[in-house]
Amino acid sequence: MKNNKLKLRSSAERGNKKVIFIERDLLINYEGPACFRSVDYQLNDSHLESFLSSEYANLDIIIIHHAKELALAQQTLDQLNSIDHSLKESIINKYPNLLDQLNCIHHQDADGNEALCVSCSCHPSKGGLFLDAAVKYSLSLSQSYYLYIKEEFAEVAKRYGISTLKIENI
Ligand SMILES: [Zn+2]
Repeated sequence: MKNNKLKLRSSAERGNKKVIFIERDLLINYEGPACFRSVDYQLNDSHLESFLSSEYANLDIIIIHHAKELALAQQTLDQLNSIDHSLKESIINKYPNLLDQLNCIHHQDADGNEALCVSCSCHPSKGGLFLDAAVKYSLSLSQSYYLYIKEEFAEVAKRYGISTLKIENI
């Protein structure tokens, strides 16, 4: 276990750049169990304003999201892309440093789209999205932050040395 932790840490350092990862659903308001279409959500202005007035507002943002609705065949890729696109437009209006939006579109052992109901490394609870971003943007994960909702995703972020933050506390 100890060795495993050390290995995770070293693979997480790919450069010096630091970012703030933000769980997508923290930035939107919607009714029901999930947001399926871009017309179904509104920007969560209060959360965005909290971020913008915080000490972290100088960092580039990478939005991450587990798009399990796609694997469950409740949402199409076009609908997911449309949410990403409209969210990007509304955030960039207020904050230009949105670097990327990364989705895991898989959901292991679920009953839905067979090709997507598989085990994957990009699931936020496995940390693949953080690692992919580290490679793509030469990040130092130990100097980066994760603004989160789901505890299970925050736990894995901590294993990569990422500092975790709650919106209520920034
Ligand atoms: Zn995945």
